Amino acid sequence: MTKRIVILGSGESGTGAALLAQRKGYDVFVSDMGIIGEEFKKELAEAGIAFEEGRHTAELILNADELIKSPGIPHSAAVVKQAFAKHIPIISEIEFAARFSQAKKICITGTNGKTTTTSLVYHVLKTAGLDVAVGGNIGTSYARILLDRDYSYVVLELSSFQLDDMFAFRADIGVITNITPDHLDRYDYQLQNYINSKFRITQNQLQHDVLIYCADDELTSKNLEQIKGKATLIPFAWDEPLQPGAYVKEGLMICTIPEQLNNPFIMHMNELSLKGRHNGYNSMAAAIIGQVLNIRKETIRESLMSFQNVEHRLEPVMSVGGVEFINDSKATNVNSAWYALESMEKPTIWIAGGVDKGNDYQLLKELVKEKVRIIVCLGTDNRKIHEAFGTEVDMIVNTSSMNEAVHVAQKLAKAGEAVLLSPACASFDLFKNYEDRGRQFKKEVKAL
Ligand code: ADP
Repeated sequence: MTKRIVILGSGESGTGAALLAQRKGYDVFVSDMGIIGEEFKKELAEAGIAFEEGRHTAELILNADELIKSPGIPHSAAVVKQAFAKHIPIISEIEFAARFSQAKKICITGTNGKTTTTSLVYHVLKTAGLDVAVGGNIGTSYARILLDRDYSYVVLELSSFQLDDMFAFRADIGVITNITPDHLDRYDYQLQNYINSKFRITQNQLQHDVLIYCADDELTSKNLEQIKGKATLIPFAWDEPLQPGAYVKEGLMICTIPEQLNNPFIMHMNELSLKGRHNGYNSMAAAIIGQVLNIRKETIRESLMSFQNVEHRLEPVMSVGGVEFINDSKATNVNSAWYALESMEKPTIWIAGGVDKGNDYQLLKELVKEKVRIIVCLGTDNRKIHEAFGTEVDMIVNTSSMNEAVHVAQKLAKAGEAVLLSPACASFDLFKNYEDRGRQFKKEVKAL
């Protein structure tokens, strides 16, 4: 009998999964509690896939042989609980797609730096001329990639929510960029649950697979000691001479893999196209992967030099009257704002604020004192920012639109200073999403 697959949620991953499942001959049904985007609806209709929106009809869902759940839907959702109660297997789109792919899977997770590292690794492989696709949590879903064809390599960004519903999936190369508290509302406010979820990236890895991680990251290192994974570990750190592993010595990145202990990859840090310590980490991860895949050192160097960063991540916008404007709208938590502030080399007017997911601003206090002259708050509730930094900076100003924030920042900035949008918060009080926030910032700056 034809197997019935029901897909909950119909964004990029849900629609990709539906199209792939149908192609593979399953009986497919898509159910979305919200309104399905026009583009996706059109695709489903054209493919003749049955779907519903604005509701989850139990009779049409709980008769599934398997459910594919979109990462945005929590396990606490009523329909998911009902499915669990009926012992219907629930998997993520990535788990499903991987069943139809022979590609070597390079998978990147972590709290911050996923998209940057994923894009950088893709660039390295592409420059090396390998047959490679990129996707997952960014851009194209894995399932949709496979609609076209299978590739020799796939670079996948994986969120913890995707990993939560992955069971048999095996990553040939896994990367955990770092782990700091985030999304705790989805993890019963238990940090350990969130950590465990990230570590699922290595759960099926074998000895010849590789797990790359940041040895400077306390939560990753501490938890690695506890889990008894099989993968070959390759760490990177800032100034701990790791061999095998990657680190920085006197301005040089030194990167060694287990098979070639006497043949390290060495590159000047100031040749890297991505600046800032956090990007140094991301570049080290990419360099390790390049070496593990036997890519020529010259190609690795060239690609790390030529990479163009993704939008909204420490993106230089322009200089106006000697003041540099930088868009780091993607910094939606304290940790990423920390790295942005750390990379600032000029006195900074810092635009921050928005929806705070339980931020502990103490972590930023010292850096703010050192780097920031003025804070421009951009959010509906800025109390915590005032409380945390009132005594650390010359001035804190409240604003309530991007237009106002940019104009205030420009007025207060002196030539030779920088204006940094790195909010440490989510954006949905005043903006659609972080992209909208970043684009509005750039538009206002360009109109100055
Ligand atoms: P993600 O996809 O995990 O959200 P991004 O690559 O989009 O990560 O970067 C998000 C934010 O985190 C950016 O503001 C960026 O400056 C910062 N960031 C990038 N890499 C790192 C890293 N390795 N550690 C900490 N912060 C980082």
